[in-house]
Amino acid sequence: MNFQYWNPQIEKMPRRELEVLQLQKLKKEIDISLRTAFYKKRLAENGIKTSDDIKSIDDLKRIPFTTKDDLREGFPYGFLAIPKEDVVRLHSSSGTTGVPTVIYFSRDDIKNWADYMARCIYATGCNKNDVFQNMITYGLFTGGLGFHQGGEEVGMLVIPAGAGNTARQFKMMQDYGTTVLHATPSFFLHLETKMKEAGVARESLSIKRAFAGAEPYSEDTRKRIEVLLKVDVYNSYGLSEMNGPGVAFECQCKDGLHIWEDGYIAEIVNPDTLEPVKEGETGELVLTILCREATPILRYRTRDLTSFYSEPCGCGRTHRRLKRITGRSDDMLIINGVNVFPSQIEEVIMGMKEVGNNYLIVVEKDGALDRLTVKTEVNADTFMDDSRLLNALKEKISETLQVSISINPKVELHESGSLPISEGKAVRVQDTRPKDL
Ligand code: AMP
Ligand code: ZN
Repeated sequence: MNFQYWNPQIEKMPRRELEVLQLQKLKKEIDISLRTAFYKKRLAENGIKTSDDIKSIDDLKRIPFTTKDDLREGFPYGFLAIPKEDVVRLHSSSGTTGVPTVIYFSRDDIKNWADYMARCIYATGCNKNDVFQNMITYGLFTGGLGFHQGGEEVGMLVIPAGAGNTARQFKMMQDYGTTVLHATPSFFLHLETKMKEAGVARESLSIKRAFAGAEPYSEDTRKRIEVLLKVDVYNSYGLSEMNGPGVAFECQCKDGLHIWEDGYIAEIVNPDTLEPVKEGETGELVLTILCREATPILRYRTRDLTSFYSEPCGCGRTHRRLKRITGRSDDMLIINGVNVFPSQIEEVIMGMKEVGNNYLIVVEKDGALDRLTVKTEVNADTFMDDSRLLNALKEKISETLQVSISINPKVELHESGSLPISEGKAVRVQDTRPKDL
């Protein structure tokens, strides 16, 4: 394969040099953070008064974790480290309830972010000849503008399509000869259902690559999108607290997501003990941003569960890779005492070709016990009036799930395209159990 690098010097930097660069940037970020009341107090409590107190990356462990609640408490300006007149933009997290977490950017911060995004996009083989249709929400959510800027930086023709409205999306793909798409994985699956319904021929489209991220999805879902839409799908990971997309991305080897270690220090900890996990073990990702001056955030608990691949990647990049995020340390469901990750359920049902593109996990109380119902659409080719076939499919799904999650769920089959679809992140779990039991 012919790999291309946006910034070869940094992307292929020997690890020893990369670590020196990280320390240098960490010290700078510590100085920046000391301009905020929050970190000034928190670092002082831990014996850090200036960046000179940080002698190695290991010293980072002297700093307590920062949580989403800390950021909320600091709302609106508590984490701002530069004069307000030097701020050019803000974004906030996609959470719909409570106080938002807000992140501010200086002009240089925006430039840096665009550069990291360009690095990600270029690593997948895109170039200035591409036409990029960004089918994700613009606005406060970072996915829209983040990819937009990165695409422009690469020199692609960027169409700020925004999310939703599949008919309009197909029209734009045909009118402008779109070659690259970005959306959530669930929107890609929805798009395929709608493509069939609308009678849009795949041959009328020029799409080659697709970036899918913003929510967890399985390898089976990736393969499904690749087969159904005949595109090359790359996983994109990020979170608004760390700028948004551009934190970690798959290269053309598609075996883990390179985390850009000159921009982020990544640790993986056991979410219960908060101690580092052993090499290769799964735990919660903790990130320190090294490429932002307006809103420094040190040791942020992302709640995302992953592990490191430390062995070198075939593409020649030296930055470590993260395994596909399997869930969050806070989305685990406990059903009649059994721990279940929604991603486990997804893996089972998306691996079945009779199953359609949308599903919903419902957890409710049935007397004293919990009841799990998996509602899933069937493939557009399945006849909804063939009850024998449907019953057999229901049984197959519930048996396979039982093996995977040790729970026997109720399975409900729905017609293709009939379950609700949200324009932003998919809502996959409805847990209606009373919270105080
Ligand atoms: P937001 O701050 O609204 O952008 O949400 C960020 C969160 O979305 C992350 O902390 C992850 O839980 C989730 N997320 C983003 N990208 C991915 C991805 N590629 N795979 C799994 N989860 C993701
Ligand atoms: Zn690679």
